[in-house]
Amino acid sequence: PDVPVGAILAGAARRWGDRTALHHAGRDLSFTGLARASARFAHGLIARGIGRGDVVALHLPNVPQFAIAYYGTLLAGATFSPCNPLLPPGELAFQLADCGAAAVVTLDLLAGPVAQALGDTKVRTVVVAGSGGAPADVAGLCDGAFAGCGVAFEKVGAGQPEEFPEVEIDVRGDLAHIAYTGGTTGRSKGVMLPHRNVVVNTLQFACSATGSVPELDGHGGLTIRAAGPEGEYPTPLGEGVIVSVAPWFHAMGTVGYLNSQFMTGTTIVSHPRLDVPAFLADMERFRATALGGAPAMFSALLADPSFAGRDLSSVRGVRSGAAPLSHEMIARLHAAFPDAVVVEAYGLSEVTMGATANPSHRSGVRRTGTVGVPVPDVRVKIVAADAPAVDESTPALPPGAEGEVCVHGPQVMAGYLNRPEETAAVLSADGWLRTGDVGVLDEDGYLSIVDRKKDMLLYNGYNVYPRELEEKLLAHPAVAGAAVVGRPDPKAGELPTAFVVRSGEVTGDELLAHVNAAVVHYKKLREVRFVDEIPVSAAGKVLKRELRESL
Ligand code: ATP
Repeated sequence: PDVPVGAILAGAARRWGDRTALHHAGRDLSFTGLARASARFAHGLIARGIGRGDVVALHLPNVPQFAIAYYGTLLAGATFSPCNPLLPPGELAFQLADCGAAAVVTLDLLAGPVAQALGDTKVRTVVVAGSGGAPADVAGLCDGAFAGCGVAFEKVGAGQPEEFPEVEIDVRGDLAHIAYTGGTTGRSKGVMLPHRNVVVNTLQFACSATGSVPELDGHGGLTIRAAGPEGEYPTPLGEGVIVSVAPWFHAMGTVGYLNSQFMTGTTIVSHPRLDVPAFLADMERFRATALGGAPAMFSALLADPSFAGRDLSSVRGVRSGAAPLSHEMIARLHAAFPDAVVVEAYGLSEVTMGATANPSHRSGVRRTGTVGVPVPDVRVKIVAADAPAVDESTPALPPGAEGEVCVHGPQVMAGYLNRPEETAAVLSADGWLRTGDVGVLDEDGYLSIVDRKKDMLLYNGYNVYPRELEEKLLAHPAVAGAAVVGRPDPKAGELPTAFVVRSGEVTGDELLAHVNAAVVHYKKLREVRFVDEIPVSAAGKVLKRELRESL
């Protein structure tokens, strides 16, 4: 349906009303409460001259004010642009200037970097939210560091109406999100996503997970209805609970959590950062029905000594995304959550959030080790990785052949902001996106991700995909984490080098022997370095650039 993102909140508020949408730090915010607070915030923005055509940057961790400001911004007709709250001031300044933000919403405790970043930006309003923990003085900040542009979060919506404002939105043209890519492989780029992309991608996931179909509620609200027989989805709509630490400033957060979970009436118990024992305690206490996240988080949860003592039998679904899920971790998740379906999904910021998924509903066919099939209305084709350009006419490689994964569908971005050349390099005029990932489709259309093109190593002219070596390392009982990168070598080009976190007694030579016995000569691992941890981004991706730089 051609409705704006606000229709998701409208539908959820009408349908789930007093049910808790967000539980944070001991407090509940109902769906109705969230809708009202967001409407007030939207009117407050409009009253300050912020609306259609303006960008509001959210520089917040996962706190309720994020959800209110997110929907408030979109209801006002403005564009939302999330910033990782841990960005150093220089990178924050770049993002604020690049997206042309008119306003920033931040937290008192994060005010320092914002004050430093404002210099060459167009920001004229800084909204400061108070943190529960050790609040700085919000009024003091508004009159001090942000004098002339600071306003306390509560003041924005104070006294404003609780109905959604009537704002004209062109759902195919007006941008809902300008989302910055993770920057795992290079400088972060702003991905332009109109309202329709966000609504479509939310539906693609909420529906594929639950076996439901979209429906308009007759009051401007978008909702979904179970299409299959009763009990088709392990957790009925309106009964789900998820404890979540997935950052809302990342595509997985806003689309996969705020929008998709609210659409299914799921309560989000939100944790701003991963405190593993507290996370597990809340999963038990709130009888979590699902667990979602990146593989790095699952490793941390399963490795914690308190895991074994928790009753997590309420969990019916485990969904992984953002980074490769090893076979070893899939087996551990099945053992840890025997009553749950374990599914993997795949996506990137350039497709709003996701492109393929294994279905979670009972009659869906899941293929372990694959990232599933294209979600509705999406086509995926594999093309020769060295194809100069890709569009509708580019021939697809046959099933079983490795090549670059290309995606076509209604959730594919409108382009990178301010970067026409970089856009043209990955997106054709007829809508085909080159993902930069190498993958393979099987006969039935299930996609497996081999690796990122940029992470591939060249050893004496041969392609080596680190993921294959990482899988072999992770299969060793004394290995808790592994990442393989190329060490530059004048003769061979690059030498496959592993960073390994040990969980038991093992030597580097033993690991070399273990891996190299199972691979062809040019893929052989040349060196093992033991480390205490593998660096990962907030979204759970291994920071290979950092590892390469440390060589
Ligand atoms: P940048 O493009 O700036 O380097 P990034 O690649 O980290 O940033 P994101 O959009 O956050 O940007 O990440 C998307 C990438 O994550 C995909 O291209 C893919 O490499 C990886 N990814 C996502 N899901 C999976 C998955 N299920 N299995 C393997 N890799 C995945």
